[in-house]
Amino acid sequence: MKQLYEQMGLSAAVYQLGEEVLSGLEERFREIDRRAEYNQAKVLAAMQKNRVGAHHFAATTGYGYNDGGRDLLEQVYANVFHTEAALVRPQITCGTHALTIALSANLLPGDELLSPVGLPYDTLQEVIGIRPSPCSLAEYGVTYRQADLTPDGSFDFDAVRRAINEKTKLVTIQRSKGYATRPSFSVQQIGELIAFCKSVKPDLICMVDNCYGEFVDVIEPSDVGADMTVGSLIKNPGGGLAPIGGYICGTKACVDRCAYRLSAPGLGQEVGANLGLLPALYQGFFLAPTVTAGALKGAVFAANLYEKAGFRCVPNSVEPRNDIIQAVELGSEAGMLAFCSGIQSAAPVDSFAAPVPGDMPGYDSPVIMAAGAFVQGSSIELSADGPIRPPYAVYFQGGLTWQHAKFGVLMSVQKMAEAGLFPLA
Ligand SMILES: *Cc1c(COP(=O)(O)O)cnc(C)c1O
Repeated sequence: MKQLYEQMGLSAAVYQLGEEVLSGLEERFREIDRRAEYNQAKVLAAMQKNRVGAHHFAATTGYGYNDGGRDLLEQVYANVFHTEAALVRPQITCGTHALTIALSANLLPGDELLSPVGLPYDTLQEVIGIRPSPCSLAEYGVTYRQADLTPDGSFDFDAVRRAINEKTKLVTIQRSKGYATRPSFSVQQIGELIAFCKSVKPDLICMVDNCYGEFVDVIEPSDVGADMTVGSLIKNPGGGLAPIGGYICGTKACVDRCAYRLSAPGLGQEVGANLGLLPALYQGFFLAPTVTAGALKGAVFAANLYEKAGFRCVPNSVEPRNDIIQAVELGSEAGMLAFCSGIQSAAPVDSFAAPVPGDMPGYDSPVIMAAGAFVQGSSIELSADGPIRPPYAVYFQGGLTWQHAKFGVLMSVQKMAEAGLFPLA
């Protein structure tokens, strides 16, 4: 093993450090495997209950009328998320698009949107109009209010109560930290926040941005009162095989409106050809629990390695996990570059490329991204990224297999060490 790794650029010293850290993680990994087994059974049961058959994988084109395979996949998602309905489509281009559909379908002029968890994910800021943008919700007369988290990262219930008013229609709760260094929330915490919001105003629609959270726990936000649970298929639920897509699982009333927003009023869920993508969408969902488990092991491994060397990690080495993201505060741009070059050099695709910071649509500072993915931009595949701004935190996620995630983390340490930024022993 050591010899092969040395040929691949990984020194014996870094490999050895990794083995030492790993020897303390057996119990953590066993718990991750237990959850994966439960979630695997949950997905399998939904596929069996719905009698998924080979005939459901047929490609459709054009309008996509009577696409039984597409409709059944949505039923499988609805069963796994325990919701009345689901919209799962390759026509949903990304997570931001899925969230935009959910928001703009269920908010009308004069309504107010509330984020009780502080500033939302970068790309959502333009969707909402926090940063002015053509076609934002603000342009259509939807106002926005925000209740910030307390300094220790928990919900400020008094501020949430004060923020809810007669105009408040929809509450958006982001499960994962995104590019912030606040904690990600557990499904149970999200349930408490939803219950609180609905106790103040019972007819509020509660939406959860579930990006990176799927299958990390054995329950999902839809199990604790979310009216819409929303995410991207090139993250956890696509299992690395979905080449595009997004999902919205929720109440029939909300999901129907989302379908009318995605296609057109009157058409809704009836149109939308699958273009031959159903095998990847079904198989990816089937693999998602174990792929997510591999990514989680990589995140736990990274936290333990980097924390040992004195870097602040969010979550830290022992905290429970609520998503697959691992933030590591590297303290400098040079650290971010070295870390990302390690992840890039460990990739199966584009391993020869050098990541450099650049401007990205939807983000307000230059972003560095390392990814050598089979699906462009897929972040269930091993990747690392982060905006070049203090505290120079890199956000590490994914890995289609635990073994690849492990190698990527070790290569990031290798490149940091070569740059004199990671103390070895
Ligand atoms: C990734 C992500 C999004 C947006 O997803 P894209 O597919 O990149 O558009 C939204 N919210 C959170 C928390 C995310 O992690």
